[in-house]
Amino acid sequence: MNRGIIIAQLPKLIPLATHWAEALERRILREGVPLSGEETADARALGVRAPERVRLLCLASLPTLDDLALRTAAAAVQFLTPATRGLALGHGIFVRADCWRERELIAHELAHTEQYERLGGIEPFLRRYLGECLTIGYPAAPMEQEAIAAAGRLNANRLA
Ligand SMILES: [Zn+2]
Repeated sequence: MNRGIIIAQLPKLIPLATHWAEALERRILREGVPLSGEETADARALGVRAPERVRLLCLASLPTLDDLALRTAAAAVQFLTPATRGLALGHGIFVRADCWRERELIAHELAHTEQYERLGGIEPFLRRYLGECLTIGYPAAPMEQEAIAAAGRLNANRLA
């Protein structure tokens, strides 16, 4: 589908995406495990304000998008593809089973959690993130680049 058409649908898509993401965050917070000491230290270094609220949930397969309009838009911006290894939804982070507890992946997702905190929650995060993915593209979107850079700095400091 044409990106212009999806951008025009954003006012309808953002509430759908927010509803989906909030439900998944609730599930992760309910079923997930807290960060380890090492992961908590990484979260603090990345600027996460409430690392104690974060939960990680191991999923054998990716969560699905039931809504067709949402699924079409996600495919157009390469959101949630078979290459997705993890995803941060507020303080909930799901990690694909074959990448479970991979420190660099979790650091990247924690960098997104910091963005959720800074922007004020799931709805403002998705509004900005999806807008950037639609206009600039993934992974060039500034918020994606910021998360990549933050996790990269953390990793470089750790190895230095
Ligand atoms: Zn990312």
